[in-house]
Amino acid sequence: MNKLYQVRRLQEFGNSASEWPEFPVGIIGSGACGLTAALMLQDLGVEALVLERDGVASGSTALSSGFVPAAQTVAQKRAGIQDSIEVFASDVQSKAHGTAAPHLVQAYCHAVQKAIDALELNHGIEWHVLDQFLYPGHSQYRMHAVKEKTGAGLMSALLSAAERAGVTLLNHAHAQELVLDAQDCIVGVGFRRPDQSMEYVRVQALILACNGFGANEQLVREYLPAIANAFYAGHHGNDGAAVLWSKDLDVDLKDMGAYQGHGSWAIPQGSLITWAIMMQGGVQINSEGKRFHNETLGYSEAAVEVLSQPGGQAWAVIDSELLELARGFPDFVQAEQLGAVKRCESVTELAKLIGCDHEVLAHELNWPLGDPAASFLSDAERESSAAERIFKRRLTPPFYAIHVTGALFHTQGGLNIDCECHVLNSSGQPFKNLWAAGGAARGVSGGAVWGYLSGNGLLSALAGGLIAAQSVAQHIQSQEN
Ligand SMILES: Cc1cc2nc3c(=O)[nH]c(=O)nc-3n(C[C@H](O)[C@H](O)[C@H](O)COP(=O)(O)OP(=O)(O)OC[C@H]3O[C@@H](n4cnc5c(N)ncnc54)[C@H](O)[C@@H]3O)c2cc1C
Repeated sequence: MNKLYQVRRLQEFGNSASEWPEFPVGIIGSGACGLTAALMLQDLGVEALVLERDGVASGSTALSSGFVPAAQTVAQKRAGIQDSIEVFASDVQSKAHGTAAPHLVQAYCHAVQKAIDALELNHGIEWHVLDQFLYPGHSQYRMHAVKEKTGAGLMSALLSAAERAGVTLLNHAHAQELVLDAQDCIVGVGFRRPDQSMEYVRVQALILACNGFGANEQLVREYLPAIANAFYAGHHGNDGAAVLWSKDLDVDLKDMGAYQGHGSWAIPQGSLITWAIMMQGGVQINSEGKRFHNETLGYSEAAVEVLSQPGGQAWAVIDSELLELARGFPDFVQAEQLGAVKRCESVTELAKLIGCDHEVLAHELNWPLGDPAASFLSDAERESSAAERIFKRRLTPPFYAIHVTGALFHTQGGLNIDCECHVLNSSGQPFKNLWAAGGAARGVSGGAVWGYLSGNGLLSALAGGLIAAQSVAQHIQSQEN
C-alpha cells in the first residue's frame, strides 16, 4: 500500500537529485512555530525555505485564541506586572503534577520570553498582556496577545513580519517524502503540488513544524481514545505527518496521551466560549440540571468531563456581569452573534431551556425558587463545598446559557526532542540534522489531558521555533567551518 508520508533513500533518485534546488534549512509547516523559526533564522543570517501545504497559511494558530504565556517580557514589564520565569516554569510543572519533561519546561519558559521580545523588537509585533483574570493554573497575568486578541490576528502579524523580513514561503507545497542519504542524514524533502506533481528540494537541516495528529482519526483513536469521538476544532492539515515519518526513522514518540481539550465549545455554532467566565464564577450544568465538576481546574480536562455527561453536552451558565467579561473576547462575540447565548429571566425559565427539573437546578445554583433573598447553602456550607466544586459566587438573574460540548483542540504528544529541539532516536541520541518543535514534538503537558496548562500549545510553538532556529543555525555554521 502506498503511504502518504514516506521516508526514501537518495539513491532511488539517481542523477536527478543533483538538480534539486538547495536551501540551507527546510521548515515544514508555516504556523506559529514554522514562522517563528523562519524569522529567528533570518535574524541569524540563515536562509530557510518554509513549505506549507495550504494555499494560504493559517494552521491551528489562526483558529486559536492566540494567547501566548511568557514571563519577564518587555510587554509584561510595560504593563507593570512582576513575574518570574522560575514561577512560570513551576506553574507549568504543577499543572502536569510534575510529569512534564523537565528539560523542555525549563528551555521553553526561558525561550518564550526571548521569542516574544524578538518578535516585538525585531519584527514589530506588539504584544498586550491580558490582565482581567487569571487562566487556570497561572499564578500571574502572562497571556500575551496581539491587539485583535485572536489567533487569526497573530497569524496575520507573523505572516506580515515574514514578508517584511524576506522569508521564502512556498504555499501549496504538501511535504510527503523525507529523503535520507547513506549516512541517515536528511538531504531532501519531496512535496506534492496541487496538480499532483512531486517536487524536491535539497536541505542541510530540517525543522518539522507541521503540528500534531488531531486531524488523523486513526492516530487519535490509537493514542487518545477518550476524546476520539469528540469534535476536532483544530486545523485539517495537522494529520500526523511528523508522527508517521517517525515510524520509519527510528525516532521515539513521547507523551502521546497528552492533548489540549476544551470543555466549552458552543453547539451547533462551533465557537470557543472563553473559559474566563468559568474562572470568574460561571458554572457548567448538565441536562439533569446538575453541576458535575470543579470548573476552575482547567478547560482541557473539562472536555472529558463534559463528554461523559448525558449526551456528551452541558450548559455554561453565567449572569450579566460575566456576560460583559465574555464580550471582551472576539470568539464569544462571534458565538453571540450566531445566537449561542440564550437569556433566561429566572431559574424556572433556565430549567425549561435545559429540559431539567427546576428544583434540582435551583439547588445547584443556590437560588431558591420564589425567594431570591434565601439561600440553600450557609456561608460555611458554601465554603466547605469549595474544595470539590468551587462556588465562587451566586449568579444573579437574568441568566445567560450557552449549549456546549467537549472538543479536541490539538495534540501535545510527538517526537522526542532534547532541550535544543533536536529529534532523538530510540537510543536517546540526536538525529543528525532533524529538529522538531511546536505540535510536531512532545510538549510540556506530561502524558494526559489534565496536564495542559493554558497556553502550552503556543508556548511550545514560539519557544520551540526559536530554540530550533538557534540550534539549526549553529549546525549550519559548524558545517561551513
Ligand atoms: C480553537 C483553538 C483555540 C486555541 N487557543 C490557544 C491559545 O489561546 N493559546 C495556546 O497556546 N494554544 C491555543 N491553541 C493551540 C494552538 O493553536 C496550537 O498549539 C498552535 O497553533 C500550534 O502551532 P504550530 O505552528 O505547531 O501548528 P499550526 O499552527 O497548526 O501550523 C502547522 C502548519 O503546518 C502545515 N502542515 C501540516 N502538515 C504539513 C505537511 N506535511 N506539509 C506542509 N505543511 C504542513 C499546516 O497546514 C499548518 O499551516 C488553540 C487551538 C484551537 C484549535
